[in-house]
Amino acid sequence: MKKSIWKTDWQNAGETSSNNMEKTIPPIEKASYVEIETYQLNELRKVLHYVIGHSAFYKEHFKRNNISPDTIQRLSDLQKIPPVSKHDLQKHQKDFWCAPTDRIIEYTNTSGTEGEALTVPMTESDLKRLAYNEALSLACAGGSSKEIYQLTTTVDRRFMAGLAYILGARELGAGMVRVGPGIPQLQWKTIAEIQPTALIAVPSFLLKLIDYAESNDIDYKNGSVKKVICIGESIRNSDFSYNALGQRIKEKWDIPLYSTYASTEMATAFTECDAGRGGHLHPELIIAEILDDEGNPVVAGVEGELTITTLGIEGLPLVRFRTGDICAMHTEPCSCGRNTARLGPIVGRKHQMIKYKGTTCYPPAIFEVLDSLEEIIYYQVEIYSNEYGGDEVMVRYNAQESLFEKALTDRFRASLRVTPKLERISQETILSLVFPGTSRKAVKLVDRRSQLVIK
Ligand SMILES: [Zn+2]
Repeated sequence: MKKSIWKTDWQNAGETSSNNMEKTIPPIEKASYVEIETYQLNELRKVLHYVIGHSAFYKEHFKRNNISPDTIQRLSDLQKIPPVSKHDLQKHQKDFWCAPTDRIIEYTNTSGTEGEALTVPMTESDLKRLAYNEALSLACAGGSSKEIYQLTTTVDRRFMAGLAYILGARELGAGMVRVGPGIPQLQWKTIAEIQPTALIAVPSFLLKLIDYAESNDIDYKNGSVKKVICIGESIRNSDFSYNALGQRIKEKWDIPLYSTYASTEMATAFTECDAGRGGHLHPELIIAEILDDEGNPVVAGVEGELTITTLGIEGLPLVRFRTGDICAMHTEPCSCGRNTARLGPIVGRKHQMIKYKGTTCYPPAIFEVLDSLEEIIYYQVEIYSNEYGGDEVMVRYNAQESLFEKALTDRFRASLRVTPKLERISQETILSLVFPGTSRKAVKLVDRRSQLVIK
């Protein structure tokens, strides 16, 4: 049995046994703002001691910037530490690793959204933390040991989230049916047999499941499934109303949808409660800041770049990691009783901002227009540079015959004030672009400005 290098406090902060987790919100989440801050400050200092002792990168990074654990006297002193970027992580991969090979029991990786996929090594303690994190997340979305989850994502291909759902459901004492991705027929056959109460699904796949049910006379509205944990795609606008994708689902199947946001690097999920007003931060697992372009914190409710510091991670802990994701943090108390901050929907990736014909937007705003037209079946957005160094946008799509290009053009003008270049292509061609065979996810965006393929 491998002993943990350091005892972290999340094990004490929360209720980790499967018997009481379902009934109790961990005390720290209902504590006052001051208590949460004091708690996080203490945890943060442990993290700094740990990374100085174990990470070649942070040892050097702190030395160069004259940072020691004593630099941090209050939580806001975190701002004295220069943030690290995805580029730093890619360039110095193993210098971030804090555990020797004989302690690493899982090698997960990122989906390779930006350049090379990044390996995230995990120790026994990290897997326990991941289980705790996901149990908290599922419980936040109303889960308990009575729940039976049907998982419609992959669990292999080094996918951390798939593993997290399994471990989290187990920690919660809930049931789990691992059907895996795709194959609507098998999903519905399993639903009929096992009677799961909740699906864990990518929202656009949920639409496909509904389509299949409708064309095969499956009475999905009166079945066992009573909620969906939505992953990978946003279902809400910044004001928490449903976006086009969320609306399309709700119009067909009016069951509770819980949005969740997570990433492999942070190994932590932000999941909505019943209030549906942003994903809750769990203070025993992560510290989150929202920074402007100059690296200064913005006030609550204002969008900026999510920057995180992980708590309690042994393998690849991160201190002030700039995620590249743009969102706002909301700090007013939530009706669920938690006093923890919540993250609003991700509006885009920082470096993916498009400057196009005098207007600026992030790719999800383009997806939103395409998702709002039911006639569009598949699409891919390509961004590239023109000869003057400006951005160009090309949308390739496949649609039902009833859709005229003018309807699409009008929709773009109304929402974004400009229309990208449009190209209607065959289903076969679009499928080969969107599902190239090597990706864990559908490729909706190709950003050729920096030769990056975004998945
Ligand atoms: Zn809440």
